[in-house]
Amino acid sequence: MRRQIGVVGAGWTGAVAGRLLTDAGFAVEVLEKTSVVGGHSRAETMNGVVYEPNGAHIFHTENEAVNEFVNSHGLTRPYDHKVLTEVFLSPDDDEGRLLSWPPQVEELKELPVWPTVERELASLPPQPTGDNFEDFVVSMMGRTLYDLFIRDYTAKQWGRPATELSARFAPKRVELRRDGHRGLFRDRWQYFPPNGINEVIESVLSTVAVTLNTEVTVDDADRLGQDYDAVIITAALDDFARCPGELEWRGIEMRSRFEPTDDPGGVLTPAYVTNRPSTRVPYTRTVETKHATGQQIDGTVVSEEMPGAPRRHYPVLTADGANERRNAELAEKIADHFDIPVYFAGRLATYRYINQDEAIADAMAVAHRVAAELGG
Ligand SMILES: Cc1cc2nc3c(=O)[nH]c(=O)nc-3n(C[C@H](O)[C@H](O)[C@H](O)COP(=O)(O)OP(=O)(O)OC[C@H]3O[C@@H](n4cnc5c(N)ncnc54)[C@H](O)[C@@H]3O)c2cc1C
Repeated sequence: MRRQIGVVGAGWTGAVAGRLLTDAGFAVEVLEKTSVVGGHSRAETMNGVVYEPNGAHIFHTENEAVNEFVNSHGLTRPYDHKVLTEVFLSPDDDEGRLLSWPPQVEELKELPVWPTVERELASLPPQPTGDNFEDFVVSMMGRTLYDLFIRDYTAKQWGRPATELSARFAPKRVELRRDGHRGLFRDRWQYFPPNGINEVIESVLSTVAVTLNTEVTVDDADRLGQDYDAVIITAALDDFARCPGELEWRGIEMRSRFEPTDDPGGVLTPAYVTNRPSTRVPYTRTVETKHATGQQIDGTVVSEEMPGAPRRHYPVLTADGANERRNAELAEKIADHFDIPVYFAGRLATYRYINQDEAIADAMAVAHRVAAELGG
């Protein structure tokens, strides 16, 4: 008799775990609460134009196994992701300047503020220090660059001062570039699929049983225990445990609109992703996915990324680590409701700020564990 595995959620983590366990001989069912697969990475179309309702998603990885896996499902189109930031150097400026993100020292030398920036850079410690996000980043690039590029963006994005945020995610997200590398990422493999990521995730799930429109919560523990020999949960744990508010999340709303263009290759904003740190606008960035897809089609979709939506997009990693502790407690409480082994994986269930490749690596690890602990 084949062992039965239930997987909650059909984003990258659930899809990959489900596929690997199916390939390993388990009878898998992926249960997804919405009517579509793909989770946060999913793209949609508006008048035929591909856009991303959950924010820009660029696939990048250094993980060889992950790279091979996504290649085998058709994710192979190279893409070099370059981000711009609109910076207002003085309150009197009517127009912002478009500069590279991360900031590039060679570009900064052309700015009137460079003498101040140069002085600040000369007095930085050899390695960035500080427990909170602001202290850490100021010690990495100095106060002037922090104020220009980071301060207001962070306040808008997180809705709280950067001094209350953990420094833990700063090294992964913030950098001052001295080597002229213009791409946002340095990973060996970077891709953008021409039609959005959906068809890649659909390929992963092509041999897996998926049941859509099925929300699963802790109240279903007994039924899940009867149907399966183990369950993998990729859902947010406060949602799954039916105690909203137990964990803090920061969400975004993409305000997306279709605009006509003069020609099929036409775009309306300067880059796929343009950061807008200024407090003059309420959004944090504009996203125009057509830059990345290279779609030849009449019109484009421009999205303004509005922070503060009541959705579970980003875990809030505070300096005291309180939310991560609460998530671990919730995982224990949920597991206590089940008579079968319960595994937690992915961005939401493990309350981590991880990218798609890390979600896939998580799925590979959990599939490996399940196979080792339950046998095929
Ligand atoms: C704004 C934003 C931008 C990002 N940009 C990038 C980027 O540029 N590059 C990159 O690599 N990564 C990026 N990421 C991260 C990427 O989205 C995640 O790493 C990845 O989607 C995680 O996949 P997952 O399967 O763990 O979670 P999700 O994609 O969230 O999937 C979870 C799935 O579970 C379903 N579900 C939830 N609760 C239940 C329930 N109770 N019952 C049944 N189903 C349920 C959901 O509907 C969803 O389909 C970004 C994330 C965000 C929020």
